[in-house]
Amino acid sequence: MELTQEFSIRPATQSRIQEVDFNHLEFGKYVADHMLVCDYANGTWETPQIIPFGNLSLSPTSLALHYGQTVFEGMKAFRMVDGRINIFRIHKHYERLTRSLDRMCMAIVPEEVFIEGLRQLVALDSKWVPAAPGTALYIRPFAYASEAKFGVKVSDEYKFVIFSGPVAGAFQKPLRVKVETSYVRAARGGTGAAKCGGNYGGAYYPTQKAKEAGFDQVLWTDGRENKYIEESGMMNALFVIDGVLVTPPLSDSILDGVTRDSLLTLAGDLDIPVETRPVSIEDLEKAFRQHTITEAFGAGTAAIVAPIGTIHINGIDYHLPDYTPGAIMYRLKDKLEAMRTGKEEDIHHWNYVF
Ligand SMILES: *Cc1c(COP(=O)(O)O)cnc(C)c1O
Repeated sequence: MELTQEFSIRPATQSRIQEVDFNHLEFGKYVADHMLVCDYANGTWETPQIIPFGNLSLSPTSLALHYGQTVFEGMKAFRMVDGRINIFRIHKHYERLTRSLDRMCMAIVPEEVFIEGLRQLVALDSKWVPAAPGTALYIRPFAYASEAKFGVKVSDEYKFVIFSGPVAGAFQKPLRVKVETSYVRAARGGTGAAKCGGNYGGAYYPTQKAKEAGFDQVLWTDGRENKYIEESGMMNALFVIDGVLVTPPLSDSILDGVTRDSLLTLAGDLDIPVETRPVSIEDLEKAFRQHTITEAFGAGTAAIVAPIGTIHINGIDYHLPDYTPGAIMYRLKDKLEAMRTGKEEDIHHWNYVF
């Protein structure tokens, strides 16, 4: 990659890594020593800075705080079996960030700021990339409208930031989820396909209501007819029906998950039949009645797969059979882990290793 942009690096005088209990990594508890910040103003991106992790300062009139121009990414770097570091599917995450920024009318972060910035940041914090099975360095790139001006407008200034922190993979108890037919996460023509903060803020209320009623999550349905399954909480939704891995097709109300895409590809490698098709509530009810549905799960970078044990549809609890390690979701998860830690060949060129 040709570097037209210099990076300015100011290392931390002291690392905080000795504060980390690598045997008990809780999601979101620890942040690595450094962060990248890059400002956009007057139509250009300024020199990216890698500096010690710390607070940002912003004006109360910053547009992001009022009108919600914020987007983010969630990705992971892995410790390979040979000790090197792999940032998984860095280019796919960059493409999605670009689509999210575009949807929110925000300035596009240059590819080299993202790719080269991530490489330099993670290399500087390389000690923070854990090695135990299931662990990773979670990476959070995000951007927000930083222009200080009150009055509704598209911001002319942005800040792009990347920080990271070590996380562990946890055993996931099968979730009890409710098919949501009153509230919607994303409407046709809306921002559902963009990874923007507002999608999360808007989803909290129905999710809290579901939690109060004894569920872990909601299975979102489409905003038009409330008839088709869209996503599972903030993860993509996948099912195994009649031995086929089934998931709804991407649309402007379904986020293009990197995990979803990876699992579908790996299913092909394992000769597991895959169908991308609308999954209606009726399809699920029928599959439960006929005992043809054997798995239901969410897929996302943080949890990788989140098994679903019970689906509540119109007042009835439908139970999935108990999952064994041989379940398709776990076979796919293991295959994914093997590939991105270098135990298996990276035949899809998903790894960015250094
Ligand atoms: C981030 C996200 C996902 C999962 O995407 P991954 O790239 O697999 O982490 C799914 N749905 C929504 C709404 C999301 O925001």
